[in-house]
Amino acid sequence: MDICSVETVLIEKRKELSGRVDSVDRDFRSGRSADSGERATEMENEAVLTELRREASEELLQIDRALQRLKNGDYGICDSCGNEINQERLKAVPYAVQCINCAN
Ligand SMILES: [Zn+2]
Repeated sequence: MDICSVETVLIEKRKELSGRVDSVDRDFRSGRSADSGERATEMENEAVLTELRREASEELLQIDRALQRLKNGDYGICDSCGNEINQERLKAVPYAVQCINCAN
């Protein structure tokens, strides 16, 4: 996969994730109902949303790291062992910073 298309994929993904984080934040800001039954459901939803937001934020950090690596010219090199990351893995997870061996 060439660097240009990797960058495009990462930037697209970044946009999508930021959008997701924003919409979770908007959800949190929108009012809460006083009804206790609904409140329980809301709390469950909040737990799910919090988890979604956390995952999205983590992915965003990884994407930023990958974009930084593209700039530095060390994209596709494992952060832990210095070996090249498998192309198939990069296709599946374009922001991977570790090879499959180190990630497991
Ligand atoms: Zn490795």
